[in-house]
Formats: sequence, structure tokens, C-alpha cells
Amino acid sequence: MKYVGAHTSASGGVFNAISHAQSIGAKAFALFTKNQRRWDAKPLDTQTIDKFKKLLEQSKIFPRHVLPHDSYLINLGHPEDEKREKSMEAFLDEVKRCEILGLEKLNFHPGSHLKQIDEEICLNRIADAMNMTLNKTSGVSLVLENTAGQGSNLGWKFEHLAYIIDKVEDKGRVGVCLDTCHMFTAGYDIRTREAYDITMAQFENIVGFKYLKGMHLNDSKPALGSHVDRHDSIGKGKIGLDAFKFIMNDERMDDIPLILETIDESIWAQEIKLLYSLVD
Ligand SMILES: [Zn+2]
Ligand SMILES: [Zn+2]
Repeated sequence: MKYVGAHTSASGGVFNAISHAQSIGAKAFALFTKNQRRWDAKPLDTQTIDKFKKLLEQSKIFPRHVLPHDSYLINLGHPEDEKREKSMEAFLDEVKRCEILGLEKLNFHPGSHLKQIDEEICLNRIADAMNMTLNKTSGVSLVLENTAGQGSNLGWKFEHLAYIIDKVEDKGRVGVCLDTCHMFTAGYDIRTREAYDITMAQFENIVGFKYLKGMHLNDSKPALGSHVDRHDSIGKGKIGLDAFKFIMNDERMDDIPLILETIDESIWAQEIKLLYSLVD
């Protein structure tokens, strides 16, 4: 069974993401639990937490199908110690916010070396930061998102993700979210049956589907291997509809949140219907 949804708006309160999800027929959703472009955030108050939990229960959307995304400012692999500290502090706060809301996962972009340190050193810094965060929290898994490899962002190669996972001590609380647009612009083709099977076999061999905790379903404006991160509506970009048909019929994507981050929110309800219509 597939659980498709979208990254809905939590403006006015985290609980608003739930009603937004319901209004578009989503069976899963993603949200920011704070303003994603700011470092600081007010702690969640009891009323907000209670309301979120109550509405989530009423919505019949399971916590495991909710995929919170952290702030864009956080870089756990930052080459400068002081700035990495600041990121780690903010990241810990994000995990605690998920914990307090009764959620099970936090989706984040691994980090960037900013052309100041080697890839491997940066990956080690990311893994260390994850271990420290895991030691201070419980119940929330850290979900690494593959990136397009834009600029100096790491995590675009499956090998980067595998390297980090290997260094994480608590394997039960680490996972991966595959973003189809990022995967494609990073150079992994999924447009034809053959290409899809090859890419997914690579993922299985290098990372392993046991770590797949969610997906972002986005078509892509830029071309294969362009390393540019620009999403498009499903079936309207360079990936095309077939890839999404393969995903919707792939049992390995059962029971995880499949989240739209496509550019036109006004058609999310239609896109969700479209995706379900692809199931054979
Ligand atoms: Zn993301
Ligand atoms: Zn994404």
C-alpha cells in the first residue's frame, strides 16, 4: 500500500499541516516544525502539541507517514567548528521538536563542504554530528536525503549516504529519503524500465532498501546529471510519468511517506489522484 502526500504548509501552527494534507486527499505529509529560513524558534507550547497530536489521530495518518524536514540553514558538515556547532544545536532542537510531537523521523540534507575540506572529512563530520544527536534523543530516526549535488552539497552519490550510515552507531535510527528530482539530476536515470531497475539495484547494493524511510516525488526541470535542483510537476518535467508508474508499483516503496514537493500546490490534489491512478 502506498502513502502519498505533500509537503504542506504549517504556517499559523504545526497542526495546520494536517488539515492541509487532508484537504488534498493526502495519506502522508511533510512539514517544517519551525520557520525553515530562521535559526531561532519559539518552543512548541503544550496547547499546540496537544492539538497536533489530537488532529493527527483524527486524520488517521500514522506518525510513520509524517516526514518533517529540517531548516535549510543547517549544515552538519560545516568546515568551521563554530558554525557547525550552531548547526548541531539547531539540529538537536529540530529532533526534539519531532520527539515532542510524537513523530518518528526527521528528514535533512547531509551537508556541504563549501570547498574548504575534503569530501571524506565532511562526511565524517556529518556522521559524528548525527551520533551526538542520537545520543541525546530517543525515538526519532535521522533520515538523510539524497541531493542533486548542487554546489558543494554532499549526499548526491549513493556512496556518500552509505558512508555516513556505516559510521552511524545506532543503525536502527538512521535512514534515507530518496528525492526523485535530486536522484535524476545527480545522474541516476529512472525514465525507462531498464534504467529504473539499474538505478534501484544500485541503491539496493550500495545503501539497501532496508534504510529507505521515505521518498520525495518530484519531476525535474533540469536534465539528467545536471546537478541543478529544480523541481517540476509530476509528468511535466524531464523525468516523465513512467518513472512514477514504476515507483507506484514497486513494493519496496510500500508503507513509507511518498511526498510531493512539486512547484504548483494548486494541483497537489490532482497529482495525488494521478499517482494513485498509476497503480496497476
Ligand atoms: Zn529536502
Ligand atoms: Zn526533497
